[in-house]
Amino acid sequence: MTLTPPPLSNDCFALPQGVDWTPVDQALALLRDRLHVVTAEEEVSLEAALGRVLAVSAVAKRSNPPQPNTAVDGYGFAGARAEGPHVLPLIEGRAAAGVPFAGEVPAGSAIRILTGAALPTGVDTVVLEEDVRSDGVAIAFNGPLKGGANTRKAGEDVTAGEVILSEGRVLTPADLALASAVGLAQLTVRKRLRVAVISTGDELVEPGEPAGLGQIYDANRPMLLGLMRQFGFDTLDLGRIPDDRATLRAALDRAAAEADVVLTSGGASAGDEDHVSALLREAGAMQEWRIALKPGRPLALGMWGGTPVFGLPGNPVAALVCTLIFARPAMGLMAGAGWSEPLGFQVPAAFAKRKKPGRREYLRARIRAGQVEVFKSEGSGRISGLSWAEGLVELPDGAVEIIPGDPVRFLPYASFNLS
Ligand code: AMP
Ligand code: MG
Repeated sequence: MTLTPPPLSNDCFALPQGVDWTPVDQALALLRDRLHVVTAEEEVSLEAALGRVLAVSAVAKRSNPPQPNTAVDGYGFAGARAEGPHVLPLIEGRAAAGVPFAGEVPAGSAIRILTGAALPTGVDTVVLEEDVRSDGVAIAFNGPLKGGANTRKAGEDVTAGEVILSEGRVLTPADLALASAVGLAQLTVRKRLRVAVISTGDELVEPGEPAGLGQIYDANRPMLLGLMRQFGFDTLDLGRIPDDRATLRAALDRAAAEADVVLTSGGASAGDEDHVSALLREAGAMQEWRIALKPGRPLALGMWGGTPVFGLPGNPVAALVCTLIFARPAMGLMAGAGWSEPLGFQVPAAFAKRKKPGRREYLRARIRAGQVEVFKSEGSGRISGLSWAEGLVELPDGAVEIIPGDPVRFLPYASFNLS
């Protein structure tokens, strides 16, 4: 049986009273505090577990290595050997990986042994093949050799019963190697977070369709669907919805019934044609998030039929930045992966910029020749700049004056799991 966690509460997006423009960090702290995992657990094979969120910490069934074995090809015997020459009689037979030696090796005798072979009874030390002369009857080598040399102890990597992977981890290929090595064939993971994506606006047409005067192609939907897939989520494409309340209501109803989260773009402000915010307000679970952030207009965060709705600005640049900065960590939490922050680093600027205090700012940027350059225009309708960029420069909330060579914080797209 799989358990689905309880839904989020209707007031989970409520902002503190009296706050006008909420600083980015405060908005993030609020999301982090209010949201919780919403996806159910399921057991899957290792093969299907790649990229999934571990729901229950995985415990080693078996130690790695499971038994003491040799790290090299050579000859095994018991005990250390002092400095100087040593000659040991060889017993018949050998120990190889997967083909252990069944007998016992008498004290003072040696046995041929190959990398990965379990140490036979009576063997705790191995001398490297390259250091040995052998005539098939005896071996000769020079000490000193420490007891236990060239061997691996049972459980020196992992011991049975140890937690190998913690709940919330997004599983990597290396994790699958580890799980397999310690005897696990299945892992309990979370079902993928299912995200419904809706574009809104009378002006939007579908790529490939003829576009008349005043119409534009829907740029946000392919971008947002792609982002969600790269974050490891399942998507439900609910298409373009005109600026019509009844049609949007029906789309939101379907989204809430079939998805864990709804992501809309456009119509999130307070204008006449801003139907996403109007409907959420009507439902009594709408919060206009006025975040001190550029680019970005108000975000409409709300609940529709118990399902959280992230109403992104229509502007593609703002939609991408708001998705990376707000939706991604929030959704990661809902998906069970915990709160994640992008890994940024300081890079010398190749540009000059003066910024007033009050809003945190994100610039489309990329690194060339060890310096970070920014897109030639900050115009928030410039979709080409999103594609040109390979990350974002994050400028602090306060005033800054940057001259070329000053360190600035660069957040590569890869640090948001994007390629
Ligand atoms: P809105 O937030 O609906 O006021 O839209 C703000 C701006 O973004 C307007 O110029 C819209 O035409 C544009 N916009 C809205 N949705 C999209 C979309 N899906 N693709 C491209 N541009 C859009
Ligand atoms: Mg619109």
